Amino acid sequence: MRTTSRYRAAARMVAAIGVVSLLAACSGNGGTTGTGATGGSEAGGYPDQNITIVVPFSAGGPTDTVTRMIAEPMAAKLGGKIVVQNVEGAGGTVGAGEVARAKPDGYTVLMHHIGMSTAPALYKNLGYKPLESFQTVGLVTEVPMTVVARKDFAPATLQDLVTHVKANADKVTLANAGIGAASHLCGLLFQTATGVKLQEVPYEGTGPALTDLVGGQVDFMCDQTTNTSGQISAGEVKAYAVTTPERVKSLPDVPTTTEAGLPKLQVSVWHGLYVPTGTPQDVVQKLSEALKVALADQKVIDQMAKLGTAPVPAEDATPQAHRTKLEEQLGTWAKVITDAGVKVS
Ligand code: ASP
Repeated sequence: MRTTSRYRAAARMVAAIGVVSLLAACSGNGGTTGTGATGGSEAGGYPDQNITIVVPFSAGGPTDTVTRMIAEPMAAKLGGKIVVQNVEGAGGTVGAGEVARAKPDGYTVLMHHIGMSTAPALYKNLGYKPLESFQTVGLVTEVPMTVVARKDFAPATLQDLVTHVKANADKVTLANAGIGAASHLCGLLFQTATGVKLQEVPYEGTGPALTDLVGGQVDFMCDQTTNTSGQISAGEVKAYAVTTPERVKSLPDVPTTTEAGLPKLQVSVWHGLYVPTGTPQDVVQKLSEALKVALADQKVIDQMAKLGTAPVPAEDATPQAHRTKLEEQLGTWAKVITDAGVKVS
């Protein structure tokens, strides 16, 4: 990494920690008093104003990409307009906190990913509680990750990468989309699997992280196929492996982490839609129905397939299936993160 980048990385780290402190100062105002129950019946004229879907990462990243894919068909089904708003910071916790505190009327919706289930173990003073502050609407998609590097990075294979980081742990830089982001988790798993502690460079989303990776300012990272596929195919980044048990159809030449000798590095990034607790039940139902229609849209299916993923089956695009997944994932990741000894504040 060049010196200017080091300063930029340090500044980002400080910014991330600053936001965490801000959240700590605001805790208690984070929608943590909810009961998990939804409100009554109010969906009659819904929607009669624009619906905002908050993406808690910067534009041009996987969460943003998936949201923009489904926003249009969802809006068409609902008979309204959907605006996508990026509220990035602190690994997705800033945007999630904003939605937790929003009016529970169905006009502020959150698209989040696996980070919803990891934040409580990472952030001591999180301003919300996943199962209490939010009502789940439905799962959206589960996206494989890829281990990618700047194209002129020396290691040629995943095994070479492991050897290289072991010998150069103090020099190698590992980018992520923020502490608690999926890329951060994948990086943690990599470090746990190899037993090497690396210098991490947090960004506010995959968009800016990938820009720096392509520009050669950082050495490598893990991120979703939705946003690495283009660069891999164009030869702008080097791909070492996909983090799923099977190869990804759209990237047939990229081996799995198991094939490449690092079987413990397995993670897929699930995404889901949320509304603040207290949102009327029939509004949640309308959103869930619109989500199902969007996920059955051939254009969405084709776009996702091109980017290495697929919509979840219709039965998973429901509040209950989503809540069950969230409960299970909160337990899984709390253990991984505690075992890795990571804490942000
Ligand atoms: N892919 C990112 C992550 O690592 C987030 C994003 O920009 O969507 O969590």
